Amino acid sequence: MIKIQVITLFPEMFDGVLNSSMMWKAQEKQAVEFRLINLRDFGLGLRKRVDDTPYGGGDGMLLMAEPLFSAINHAKERCPNAKVVLMTPRGVRWVQSEAQKWADSNDDYIFVCGRYEGYDERILTLVDMQVSVGDYVLTGGELPAMTIIDSVVRLIPGVLGGETSASIESFSDGETLEFPQYTRPEVFKGLEVPKVLLTGNHAEIAKWRKSQSLKISSSDK
Ligand code: SAM
Repeated sequence: MIKIQVITLFPEMFDGVLNSSMMWKAQEKQAVEFRLINLRDFGLGLRKRVDDTPYGGGDGMLLMAEPLFSAINHAKERCPNAKVVLMTPRGVRWVQSEAQKWADSNDDYIFVCGRYEGYDERILTLVDMQVSVGDYVLTGGELPAMTIIDSVVRLIPGVLGGETSASIESFSDGETLEFPQYTRPEVFKGLEVPKVLLTGNHAEIAKWRKSQSLKISSSDK
């Protein structure tokens, strides 16, 4: 079972995502265990302060090193070998092949979600990996963490229903996008399902799907 811990100031943001659909099923199947750690619990003083102004001046606040160190060490007490993953636009861009690698690895993970203008750089001494979900800036690391967690957990062997469904999905071979799909009815508002899909000829269907995949993957989006 993969153990995933998330350090965040907003644990409630994860409730819907981690307790629905595939993420809920993965927990039921004991493929994954989630634990949310509220960074505020490691805040300083009576007011449980977690942020402060940057040295050298500048806008906004930074998450302080001390609460983050305490929270990461707390998570490490439970899973000493867990990989610490920091959400940051500076990180390596997340891709499907990496999700597959993590799902197959059986490693445990501690996600650290930044907020405000970011974090005190000294936490990098505790971080194993810095990951970005793309070249844009979000308000916090929670959505990136949920995105990465979802992409990994659904690939843990036995979590997805159809055994082949992950292997034919977009990017499963690194670049190709999935072919178009249709379900009932055969004609909807005058729009027809491609005839080849109704033939029952599996070889022809596979050929058509492959050609559509290649066409979609090579066209500009
Ligand atoms: N000042 C930072 C910068 O310019 O790179 C952005 C800080 S952002 C408002 C707050 C936090 O959201 C970041 O510390 C990070 O944890 C998270 N975050 C924002 N965009 C992200 C992205 N594209 N990928 C991963 N994490 C992101």
